[in-house]
Amino acid sequence: MKVTVLSGGVGGARFTRGLLALLDDDADVTVVANTGDDMWLHGVRVCPDLDTLMYTLGGAVHEEQGWGRRDESSRVSADLAAYDVGWEWFTLGDLDLATHLARTQWLREGLTLSQATERLCRRWGLAAQGVRLLPMADEPVETHVRVAGGDLLHFEEWWVRHRAALPATAFVQVGLESAAPAPGVLEAVRDADVVVVPPSNPVVSVGTILAVPGVRDALATTPAPVVGVSPIIGGAPVRGMAAECLATIGVDATAEAVARHYGLRGGALGADGTPGVLDAWLLDTADEDAVGRLRASGWRAAAADTLMRDVPATARIAAAALALVGR
Ligand code: GDP
Ligand code: CA
Repeated sequence: MKVTVLSGGVGGARFTRGLLALLDDDADVTVVANTGDDMWLHGVRVCPDLDTLMYTLGGAVHEEQGWGRRDESSRVSADLAAYDVGWEWFTLGDLDLATHLARTQWLREGLTLSQATERLCRRWGLAAQGVRLLPMADEPVETHVRVAGGDLLHFEEWWVRHRAALPATAFVQVGLESAAPAPGVLEAVRDADVVVVPPSNPVVSVGTILAVPGVRDALATTPAPVVGVSPIIGGAPVRGMAAECLATIGVDATAEAVARHYGLRGGALGADGTPGVLDAWLLDTADEDAVGRLRASGWRAAAADTLMRDVPATARIAAAALALVGR
């Protein structure tokens, strides 16, 4: 079955790993990754969400942390700090640095980010599992955060250094207007049997992918059903600071509000005149009371245990999401 997933880092990667376990030999999965968190650091191109996906699906991720390599060390970062260069709050692991160095070399040789990503993924055997990883765009797009007082910070500085605690007034995607969906992205949405919006950050992960010119319209018009899984359980993101991102754009941190923010396909246009992108919404049993209200507004909705405890539990969540749209 052809499944296309629009993913951020940890939440989307864990979901996709469960989806692959569910589909097994039948997997033909395309993951479109957010690249809005990308940045240059110490002269190398860092792509946090692409790498979290690659390490998770390739069996190399630091399991407890959810991102980065397992058995990692940070000798290079520590030595860089002794020179007083870079960002002391953002550690690049020694093994992780090899990924960034390889990617940067290929980008400098003239490869696109898609091509560099494909080369990196060869090592981790993603194709053999039936999964292909695409950046949302080949052009650099970087999410910046406008904080009180008007300053713009790179998203990672706001997120990692300030733990999203600096009140923010807006997210600005620098480079977005001149970006286009990477090769294969629109086709993957159009030709899928089902498109899944996993439990990723709806603002700075999925929201950024949807903002790439052409992507939202592709979702609104694809013949494939589109199903989302709530990243909010019982009124809170399971891990991380997604609530701060939602607050910045004026959306309540509830499963129902996030669904309505994505919008129903064929339903009313959003406040900014954009079409909805989902047919169906899987939320947690803790939020079951929203199912009836969503159904009354034309949604296909259901409740399940959506905590991604381990791979089997996550495969069951993926199965429930696909079942909601008859797949
Ligand atoms: P990031 O780029 O690493 O922040 O990862 P994503 O954007 O893909 O996903 C982060 C979001 O996943 C978090 O903000 C949570 O809302 C959500 N999330 C994480 N773990 C779980 C889980 O076990 N179940 C559900 N339903 N959502 C989760
Ligand atoms: Ca991310």
